[in-house]
Amino acid sequence: MLKHDILIIGGGGAGLRAAIAIGEIDPELSVAVVSKVYPMRSHTVAAEGGAAGVIKDNDSFENHCMDTISGGDWMPDQDAVELFVKKAPEELIQLEHWGCPWSRESDGKVAVRPFGGMNIERTWFASDKTGFHLLHTLFQTSLKYDNIIRYDEWFATKILVENGRCQGVTALEIRSGKVQAIAAKSVIICTGGAGRLYPFTTNGSIKTGDGLALAFRAGVPLKDLEFMQFHPTGLPGTGILITEAARGEGGILVNKDGYRYLQDYDLGKPLDINDPDHPVKKSMELGPRDRLSQAFVLEHEKGGTIPGPYGHVVHLDIRHLGEKIINKKIPFVRELATKYAGIDPVFEPIPVRPVLHYTMGGIDTDIDTATVIPGLFAAGECACVSINGANRLGSNSLTELLVFGRIAGEGAANHAKNNPGPDISALESQEKDEQNRILKGFYQKESGTENISGLREEMQEYMDSGVGIFRNEQGIRKTCDKLAELKERFANIKIEDNTSTFNTEVTVALELEGMLEVAQALSHCALDRKESRGSHQRSDFTGRDDDNYLKHSMAHYTGDIPKIDYKDVIITKWPPAERVYGR
Ligand SMILES: Cc1cc2nc3c(=O)[nH]c(=O)nc-3n(C[C@H](O)[C@H](O)[C@H](O)COP(=O)(O)OP(=O)(O)OC[C@H]3O[C@@H](n4cnc5c(N)ncnc54)[C@H](O)[C@@H]3O)c2cc1C
Repeated sequence: MLKHDILIIGGGGAGLRAAIAIGEIDPELSVAVVSKVYPMRSHTVAAEGGAAGVIKDNDSFENHCMDTISGGDWMPDQDAVELFVKKAPEELIQLEHWGCPWSRESDGKVAVRPFGGMNIERTWFASDKTGFHLLHTLFQTSLKYDNIIRYDEWFATKILVENGRCQGVTALEIRSGKVQAIAAKSVIICTGGAGRLYPFTTNGSIKTGDGLALAFRAGVPLKDLEFMQFHPTGLPGTGILITEAARGEGGILVNKDGYRYLQDYDLGKPLDINDPDHPVKKSMELGPRDRLSQAFVLEHEKGGTIPGPYGHVVHLDIRHLGEKIINKKIPFVRELATKYAGIDPVFEPIPVRPVLHYTMGGIDTDIDTATVIPGLFAAGECACVSINGANRLGSNSLTELLVFGRIAGEGAANHAKNNPGPDISALESQEKDEQNRILKGFYQKESGTENISGLREEMQEYMDSGVGIFRNEQGIRKTCDKLAELKERFANIKIEDNTSTFNTEVTVALELEGMLEVAQALSHCALDRKESRGSHQRSDFTGRDDDNYLKHSMAHYTGDIPKIDYKDVIITKWPPAERVYGR
């Protein structure tokens, strides 16, 4: 049996940061990084805008905490936010030392840009390809450590728990089709978000929330899943993201009449984009993402949006910035708009509409990234520690995966050093069971009748209509019923390809199996939260209800309809208040 001290599922930003932390602590600890794609293809590479961390003299930890907590509509755990904010600059400077080419001001200082919901400029960036540079830096640094062993293109299928502690995983080697157990004393889940639950998303096709399903089935609750973030500016058709940096640099959103419609939707005071001395471009277009996406729907209902071949859009106008600034600060925006929308934003406005972007909830962990199962940790977008609450602020996530990836690495190393080795004979029996399950349930399904892509499309359609930007009881119930039906139908899937080499039909089916579980947990959390907060807007329960719902939803696996209960939100210094922008 394959054996390591620590196993990390995921080779994105969080997984690699955790691996490096372990490499630094003890070169004797053997670390496995299991990733279903080559690490540089992880979604972190797609991040454009930047990473938040206090660096300017006129900024403070207090400000960053306040923006994050109020932006998250008082749902973030405040102890976790404080830890995150304090560690953020340290991590970003560390990345610089490892070679990340942060963009600079003309005096040589690190440049920062404004970002939605942040009341001051604190978003570090590397042009508008921040995630690319960040992931490259981490990947190259990870190569320095001989004790980091990679399992590229291996698909984790199950978390192995024995004697009440996590002792490894089973994984499918995609190249050979072989399912094997990999034993470890600690496991860290760093598998990213679940944007592919929805039909129109910025998330790459690998973002299917596998780690959430793995943890859920192993007995870890999923927290705050009903909070899914829609980003206001996706390109119609593809869902490709036009980064918030376009608005951070001064881009404006206009309706069919060229009117800045956001001023009608209580997002703060209008911003004078021609005022070069404006201290922070903080309101309207730089309001938080949930409110901007909701404003689009309301504007659409009012008849203000523009019909197009892929549904209604509004216009993101950056023409006034001029070609020089666009090329210098946001060249990728120009490239994407030209290639994927067929318009050059130097001369024409960009058509945009809201698009599913980020999974705020996830695997329940404590402030040290530990789950309820000893030896099992989670960090990055798949985890809910929680700093994002009901609405994540853009540019907090790249920093989150650094700060909590490192903490997870340290915690897992510590756990591995203080615990006995795995119980091999028990793991062998679990390995056999899993091999059989995958053989019978996936490779030998030629005679089934249900088509995988058909089931997935139905799931996505119902997620969009029932638990989209606005929700109500009737719609959510329909989605819950549909998901129960889809789960039953999944048992009868048809897999035409029964070969073992690079069988992507099987991996896609494994992804869908997990997505149906996660979708069901999300929808039931949404059904039970009878209030409107952040990205969870109920048209039948408008308004925030702190008396009854200032608490985290916790979905527990039962094999059938998930059981939902609640856990207190940790409030330290910032008592719940109204969300106000343009402070
Ligand atoms: C287009 C886009 C732009 C963004 N821009 C920004 C930004 O400017 N600033 C910001 O802060 N945030 C941004 N975000 C969010 C941020 O990029 C992500 O939250 C973050 O990168 C997630 O990192 P991660 O390490 O948690 O997961 P990922 O980078 O998604 O990596 C997940 C890893 O898990 C592996 N994996 C998954 N399932 C399995 C399995 N079953 N078996 C084995 N391996 C598995 C994958 O192979 C992959 O290596 C953006 C997101 C998108 C989609």
